[in-house]
Amino acid sequence: MEQAKLTINDVEDALINLKQVTLEVTDVCNLRCKYCGYGDLYFGYDKRQDKYLSFDKVKTLIDWLVYIWKFFKTVSYMPTTTIGFYGGEPLMNIDLIKQTVEYVENLKINRNFLFAMTTNAVLLDKYMDYIAEKKFNTLISLDGNSEGQSYRVNHSGRNSFDTVYRNVKLLQQEHPEYFAEHVNFNAVLHNRNSVESTYSFIKNEFGKTPTMSELNNSNIRSDKIEEFNRTYRNKSESLYQSENYEKLAEDIFIGEPQTENLLLFLHQYSGNTFRDYNDLFIDKNELRYRPTGTCTPFGKKIFLTVNGKIIQCERIDHNFAVGNVENGKVNLDFDYIVNRFNAYLDKLSKQCKVCYRKKSCTQCMYYIPDIDNNKPVCHGFMNKTDFENYKSYCMSHLAKKPYLYKKLMTEILVE
Ligand code: SF4
Ligand code: SF4
Repeated sequence: MEQAKLTINDVEDALINLKQVTLEVTDVCNLRCKYCGYGDLYFGYDKRQDKYLSFDKVKTLIDWLVYIWKFFKTVSYMPTTTIGFYGGEPLMNIDLIKQTVEYVENLKINRNFLFAMTTNAVLLDKYMDYIAEKKFNTLISLDGNSEGQSYRVNHSGRNSFDTVYRNVKLLQQEHPEYFAEHVNFNAVLHNRNSVESTYSFIKNEFGKTPTMSELNNSNIRSDKIEEFNRTYRNKSESLYQSENYEKLAEDIFIGEPQTENLLLFLHQYSGNTFRDYNDLFIDKNELRYRPTGTCTPFGKKIFLTVNGKIIQCERIDHNFAVGNVENGKVNLDFDYIVNRFNAYLDKLSKQCKVCYRKKSCTQCMYYIPDIDNNKPVCHGFMNKTDFENYKSYCMSHLAKKPYLYKKLMTEILVE
């Protein structure tokens, strides 16, 4: 397979079909979680300065996107774009959220809009009627029971569990239908909780299956590595240590790391997945592929930081900003975006060419340490032996649970 480069057309297409605009509405937070990605453990983000994003910046960005959606190219279907609110704690800037929602709702444009938010739920009691009325897809950060939640403390160091639990229960009681359809949970795993305790608590109390994430292991400050290692808990290990492993693995389905790997493996290598009818006529060996698992800039979302920086997502270092919103203008140079992206790909292309993982690569290049240097090394690289091991890891899982084949191939869409 030949390697392909990113083109300006790819970036334009991504913006025309933009799935999500994520707004960092403030960098202020009413909690001080010990492992926060914007806290002491990490580097690689703009200094937190108690800022609030201005509506002017949001309006400038949205107007610019509306111009693209209306005039760049016509699309024949009605696309949907989610406006996501992110922080800090987004509810600390509820005024901006309300202004933005009202503005978007009054746009005369052939596009659906949905709203989403990730919140720590501390202010949920105050704003839940509004959130439920607008049907926000709300992701609540909750690390399980009181012990699990004990790293999520307020400014005086007090565990936020009681407040959060009370607020979430209130939301569930006051708006049961909204809660059932639009509310989900994400828990961070660490040394004070486990997959089993977190899952059981959230399932029993709220009837939901939480997603669970490990602590972010990139950009850790060198003087904090020991603390990070003490706090970190590996998801697979935690799961295998569960008393009811089989039942739990079944319940969390693709949240189980081996099943998640099998999903990717089957979709890439079974030869039985087709995105549309055109796929049936394509010789996949002739296809060109773009190295790494990095998404096309704006292929998933556009992220506007509280300082007006534009980044392709909120999960990567702020130094990877590709433009900004300043003085009533969106400054995005498509040539710069494409050249910089391709320059990173070039640095990795030698490794990717001979990497056996390339057809199922999920490695985002922005997480590769020293990608800005001349010879970055990808730790996801697989030689033939690594790949054979990976293949048997997936196939042995399938041999134990053959019913997963049908379930994974028919129920889950991999983008
Ligand atoms: S982490 Fe990387 S691959 Fe994932 S959405 Fe962000 S830029 Fe894309
Ligand atoms: S795992 Fe690393 S070396 Fe392999 S294809 Fe992905 S980015 Fe390239």
